[in-house]
Amino acid sequence: MPKIFDRLDGKKKKDIKVLADFISIFCRENHREEAKSIFPIKDARLHPILGDNEIVLCQDCQKLLNHGIAKLLLCPYDPKPMCKKCETHCYAPGYREKIRQVMRFSGMYLIRHGRLDMLAHYLF
Ligand SMILES: [Zn+2]
Repeated sequence: MPKIFDRLDGKKKKDIKVLADFISIFCRENHREEAKSIFPIKDARLHPILGDNEIVLCQDCQKLLNHGIAKLLLCPYDPKPMCKKCETHCYAPGYREKIRQVMRFSGMYLIRHGRLDMLAHYLF
């Protein structure tokens, strides 16, 4: 099992779930034509978080989710600040713009669909 998953705690679990939800919505709504596959969950400890529903994403979004999960786990701050307020820009170039776009889109999507419960805690 990858060692970085030893850093998983309650807060990070919740953040990973939000990240996965937001990227899933974005991919479903914006990448309709892309070939998709089930996101492989790399560590058994993620199963209770990401749960019973399979996450189906295109290749790009899978990379983005992997990158996001790794960055969350490696976050040097405790507690982790909201990413949009953080001074450390830990995302690799390219991913950062992408995740912002995802957060903006999916945030708006949830507001339009009345899912304010899912917005209770925002990452970005
Ligand atoms: Zn996608």
